[in-house]
Formats: sequence, C-alpha cells, structure tokens
Amino acid sequence: MNIHEYQGKAILKEFGLPVSNGRAIFSADEAEAAAKELGGPLWVVKSQIHAGGRGKGKFKEPEAGEKGGVRLAKSVDEVKLFAQQMLGKTLVTVQTGEAGKQVNRLYIEDGSDIESEFYLSMLVDRATGRVAFVVSTEGGMDIEQVAHDTPEKILTFSIDPATGVMPYHGRNVAKALGLEGSLAKEAGDLVTKLYKAFTAKDMEMLEINPLIVTKDGHLKCLDAKISFDSNALYRHPEVMELRDITEEDEKEIAASKYDLAYIALDGTIGCMVNGAGLAMATLDIIKLYGEEPANFLDVGGGASEEKVTAAFKIITADPNVKGILVNIFGGIMKCDVIARGVLAAVKAVGLQVPLVVRLEGTNVEEGKKIIRESGLNVIPADDLDDAAQKIVNAVRGGK
Ligand code: GDP
Ligand code: MG
Repeated sequence: MNIHEYQGKAILKEFGLPVSNGRAIFSADEAEAAAKELGGPLWVVKSQIHAGGRGKGKFKEPEAGEKGGVRLAKSVDEVKLFAQQMLGKTLVTVQTGEAGKQVNRLYIEDGSDIESEFYLSMLVDRATGRVAFVVSTEGGMDIEQVAHDTPEKILTFSIDPATGVMPYHGRNVAKALGLEGSLAKEAGDLVTKLYKAFTAKDMEMLEINPLIVTKDGHLKCLDAKISFDSNALYRHPEVMELRDITEEDEKEIAASKYDLAYIALDGTIGCMVNGAGLAMATLDIIKLYGEEPANFLDVGGGASEEKVTAAFKIITADPNVKGILVNIFGGIMKCDVIARGVLAAVKAVGLQVPLVVRLEGTNVEEGKKIIRESGLNVIPADDLDDAAQKIVNAVRGGK
C-alpha cells in the first residue's frame, strides 16, 4: 500500500528524522491559513499524488499554469494562487502514465535552502533476505539512469537483522556522500532511525529523493515515498487509516473486497485463474501466442460461486477486455462446481466477448459436460496450450 508524501513525512518525524514543517490542505483557503501559520519567507506547494516526478510534471489544464507539480512560493498570495491553480487539476508525470492523476490535496511546506541533493532508498532485498540501503550523490536524478550510466556512484549495502545498524554503516554512507564532521554524525543517526522506522512499520520501500544538506549544514528528508507490505497491514491499523482509495485502481478495490488477488494490466485478454502459479503461467502463454493479458487474477483455492461472479464482474467492467480466459485446476475444488459457478456468473453479468474455459482435475468430465450443455456461447478447451490459442484467435476476430 502506498501513502502520500505528507503522511510519510509525519511517520519519519515520529521516528525523529529531519523533515520540514508543513500542512496538508484540501482547499485554497486552507492554503492561505497554512502559509500564514508556517510563516515563510519561502514555501513549497507540493501536489500530493501517489506518483513521483511531480516537480518535472505538467498539468493538463492550461489554467494550472506552466509550472510543475512542486512550486516554490515567495509570498502567502503566491501560495494561495498556486493552490487555486493546482487543486482539482490533472498532473501528468513520468510515473502517472498519459492519463495523469487528479490533485486533490496539497502539502504546504517551509521552503529549504539547498546546499546539495542526494538519493537514498531502502527496500526489502529478496536476494539477501535483508533490508537494503541504496545511497547516491546523484540526488534528484532518475536512479535507474544513474545505475545504468555511472554505477560507481551508487552505494548499496544490507543490514544483518541480528545486529541491526552498526556504526560503520553510517560511516560508509557519510563517505559515499562526502560528508564530514557533524554531517557525518547526522548521516549515522539518519541510517539508524530510518532502519528503525522501516522495520517497525513493516515498510516495503522507502525513497528519499532528494535527501539534502541545507545551507545551514544539516541533513533533511525533502521528499518521502513510502509503501508498506500489504500482508503486514493488519499489524498497523494506524497505517491502514492512511489509505487513499481515490489513488487506487477501482477494479483492484472491488477485488480486494472479495479477497481476490487482482492486478490490472494493459492487455485485452481478461483472465480468471486459481492459484498464483497457474495465473502467472497463463499470462506467459497468452504472451507466447502474441497477445497481452488484461489482468492477473487469482480467485484462490476455494473459489465460491459468489467469488467467481465477482471476478467476472470485475473482468467484464474493464473496457479493454476483448475476450476472457477461464483457466481452473480443480484440486480442492471440483470442476463441476466451478463450471456451475462460471455459468451462474455468465448468466448474472451477461457476456459480450468470447469466453474460453479450460478445466482440469477432479470431476473434469462432468464439468465439461455442464459447459457443453449449457447453451451458452462458451468455447471449451482441452489444455492450457489449446485454451491460449483459442482465446488469442477469438480476440483477433477468428472463430
Ligand atoms: P518529485 O518531483 O515528485 O520527486 O518531488 P520532490 O519532493 O522531490 O520535489 C521536486 C524538486 O523540488 C526537488 O528535487 C527539489 O529540487 C525541489 N524542492 C522541493 N522542496 C524544496 C525546498 O524546500 N526548497 C527548494 N529550494 N527546492 C525544493
Ligand atoms: Mg523527489
């Protein structure tokens, strides 16, 4: 689960990390009040959307002005003007895709005078099974580009969970960033507190880009992008409250209500599969035959008729879906039960696109018979290969 920058900074502050003072606001009037409270003389007006690259982003509406989604203001009036311009408008950044994202909240912050900008991120490194830090002098830059062009400018290390952060980790970070004296000490403190925040809150990723040295010689986290491990959210009701569902895919929200593992993708073939492994294999084979899947959907081992219907509704609600592939292995579930569920779902939500059904496992013959005799326009398939070819053929207009 992702959260907004201002929410991330509130968490960082809780753990004693250096962030600017700021106020989250939802209207231009609130912006004026917040700017007066903060006092100036420099403010930053920041669009709050779940995507990076806001500074270099562009608004779709001309009324929003030429500037990007992060603006420096030198007066209360300017803060208010920027708030009026940006609120309710659509910001397009390298991370939002062409559709962009509507800006419904702004964060008004005390402006900092920047001496230098660095990059710092943390993530769970699957290879080492540890929390890893990525640090670079190239702040404000696209880190993937830095990794590609000048990998020597990136320091990566991971923390042994048995010992936690050791003093040498801080020294290595300070050295990599060229920090000395009190700033080196601050770097050590930063690494310790970040690790504590990351593990205590079950974060999945934390990115501070830029981490800055202020003109008066202190480290500060100027941006904060945090995502949490969804499987650990039950341990953090206070984090769950930060969820902003207006930032999430509608279909994914609907799927989460029915406990369906659903990820929206860009293609045309809607998939309903049981088991994550089989779902991945289904996506692969669709691609192998030259088409793109519209989603990943794992209905789980105990797919009830209700769940199957919900899954169908979600898939058919996607205007990009030109055909549906149901690929179910009846292990714990029986194929005849699944066949009845699929038919009930088709009857309930209607079917405007071709549907290929591949069933395998317990009571498979009975399941196939139910589909065959249903009178509905369902294309049966014998195995995964056959199913993939049939649905690809169908979305391409073949029979
Ligand atoms: P992003 O574009 O979504 O990554 O948003 P950031 O929070 O990183 O802001 C974009 C850029 O705005 C930063 O890289 C800084 O260069 C600049 N910026 C943000 N806050 C301040 C500030 O307090 N003072 C100054 N001078 N620049 C800032
Ligand atoms: Mg940034």
